[in-house]
This record gives sequence, structure tokens and C-alpha cells, in this order.
Amino acid sequence: MEHERNIYSDNDMWNRGTEKPVPETREISEAGEPETYSCGCGNTNPEDFHVNDDKGEVSCNQCGTLILSNMIDPSAPTRRFSSTDPSVDNAHYGAPASNLFADKGLRTTFNPMEADKKDRQKSFILKRINQQTVTNKERNLAVALRDIERVISRGGLTKSVHQEAVNVYRDAVDLQLIRGRSIEGMVAASIYTACRIRGVPRSLDEIADLTRTGRKEIARNYNTLKKNIIRLKRMPPTTPDQYLSRYIFALNLSLKVQNRAQDLLKTCFDGGMNQGRNPIGVVAACIYIACVDCDERRTQRQIARELEITEVTIRNRYKEAMAILNANKSKVEIENSDE
Ligand SMILES: [Zn+2]
Repeated sequence: MEHERNIYSDNDMWNRGTEKPVPETREISEAGEPETYSCGCGNTNPEDFHVNDDKGEVSCNQCGTLILSNMIDPSAPTRRFSSTDPSVDNAHYGAPASNLFADKGLRTTFNPMEADKKDRQKSFILKRINQQTVTNKERNLAVALRDIERVISRGGLTKSVHQEAVNVYRDAVDLQLIRGRSIEGMVAASIYTACRIRGVPRSLDEIADLTRTGRKEIARNYNTLKKNIIRLKRMPPTTPDQYLSRYIFALNLSLKVQNRAQDLLKTCFDGGMNQGRNPIGVVAACIYIACVDCDERRTQRQIARELEITEVTIRNRYKEAMAILNANKSKVEIENSDE
């Protein structure tokens, strides 16, 4: 398979980096003059700006304003490659291995047309053997991990959720949990699980919307995952607080309402309202009551649409919540009168 590649020929572009030292920070420009920045707050002192080379950002130390972002490093590459000079180390490495790809980012590919003429026949054979010896697991992962990536980006979920979902799915494959179940269903369940592990819970319906799976299948697969993967057994149950801040933001409500709703939620749950109820319904009722208390009116219809539940559910949970809150209030009054 060895053949000469002349991609890295000796030319000015690649050698430039070895001729003169690369400036360490962008504060010193090529001419040796300090870079000048100016901020809206009147700060022009070059010492008073923070240059973050890793992020490519410059910010003002006085007021914190971001002056520059997405800066491009104009310096020449420091590596030198040569096909003729044997003293040059031509070794080059790609991105680090990543769990996010079925092959961890280390692909084995054969391109017979790129090989020497005498090696071409051998290369064709190797290519075919390579394709034939792919295991079921690799083939499964290749489909599933692409699916996970697509759903994660559609749902606007974070990279940490992505990583977690891939880890859960890989565990499921290793434990042979995929057998007899659809890849799509397991992908959906892995993402649902990952969201819960990372504390950004999405409801079953939301995940079902992102995938071509029903909520029942996701719930069933989730239970399978939880039963078989040991580290998932220690996972704490989701608290409605984790949903609350999201919906407060979506309904454009103030922090005051959020704090009030949080108190109400705690009272309702201490009063035993979570038994056999969809927590979203309880959250909806508490948001509604908090809105009324804080004089930031949202109709039941608005809340129902944002939380994707029916108005009837909100009204029922509202009645139950009010019963608990009133009982609690009278209990507090009795305790106060006792003192
Ligand atoms: Zn400033």
C-alpha cells in the first residue's frame, strides 16, 4: 500500500513558519507594534484588554464588553513537511479518536484507484474483504450514531447530551439490548435518557416528535435501558423544577413568577400531588397560580399551548393544587394561633 504522496511538497507556504518565530499572542502584531483596541466605555489602554487566544476573543477589562470575536490566526503553520528531505518527520495525525463516530473517527478505507498499478489488484481485494468483515455491531452503530446526531441537532440539544446519548446507546449495543427492537426506538430512548442524566429533561412527547417513534415505545425502551445498564439505576428522578425554568422562559415570565411557582410546586409535591400525575400538569397549574399571584396574566390556553397539554388538565390540576394550598394555608394559620 506504500506509495509516494506529493501533497506536502517543499514550497514557500509550508516553510515560512520555520524561518521566523511565530508571535506568541496577538497583542504584538507582525511589525512589533502593540495591537490597539478601543471600547465604547472610553477604554483605549492596550494593557486593559483581555486577549483570549483559545477562543479568539478580545474583551474590555473595564466593562467586560466583547470587542472582537472569531479572530483568525494569521500566523503560518509551524510544521514543515518534505517528500525529499529524509531528516523531516512527515508523520501527521488527524483529530483525536471520538466516541461520537461508529469507527471512533479512525476510518479504514481502501482506494484502489489511488494505489500503484502493481498494487491495484491487491487493493481491490482488501477493499472487498474490509467491507465483508464489518460486524453487525459496527453496522448498527453506523446507522444509529448518524441518527442520534440528526435528532440532537434538530432538537437543539447540547454536545454533552449528544456524548451521553452515544455512551448509553453503545452500552445498549454491548449488552445486546437492541435485538428485537428498532434502532430508531432505541436511539429515541437513549436521547431521552441522556437528557435526564444531564438535567435537561425533555418530555416523552417532545422526543417522540423529534423521532419517528411513539411515546409508548420510548417509555418501554427507556425502562429496558434502566433495568439493564447499571449506572442508570443510580440516576435521580427528574424534579419538576428542571422543567420549570424552561417554561418560564418560553412564556416570557419574570423571575418573581418563577420563584413563586417553585414554592407552590414544593408545597404541592409535599402535599402528595405527584402520585400518578404527569408532572407537567402540576407545573402548569403552579405557573398559572403564580401568574395570578404576581399579576402577570397568562391565560390557561397560552400555558396549555406552551406546555403541550390540554386546558382541561390544567383546570383539574389547578383545582387539586388550590385544595392543597388552601389546606396548607389554614394549617399554617392554626400553627400561628397556637403560639
Ligand atoms: Zn469597556
